[in-house]
Amino acid sequence: MEAIQREQKRCGYCGRYYKPDPRTRKTQKSCAQAACRAKRKMESQRKWTEANPGYFQGRYEKVKQWRERHPITSVSGEKGSVRYKTRYPLRSQSGEWFS
Ligand SMILES: [Zn+2]
Repeated sequence: MEAIQREQKRCGYCGRYYKPDPRTRKTQKSCAQAACRAKRKMESQRKWTEANPGYFQGRYEKVKQWRERHPITSVSGEKGSVRYKTRYPLRSQSGEWFS
């Protein structure tokens, strides 16, 4: 029984025990239920926004200023390719991991 309990983690949202994904067990805090994962996602996004106040606003202003100073006249060309770095929050593609 103890070995099983060590393998299992308790969901911080519904309180049920679940078997965490070996790849994310250190950070995983919710079970595979869609409702719990949605809550966890919302909470992490809220915490991130609180930790980075005005991030989007400040970023937009910077981009706007930069674009005003660097008007794009041509996107094509050898050095014309523009790459945007975009960060998406980590998420599992399906609940199958947790089963
Ligand atoms: Zn849960």
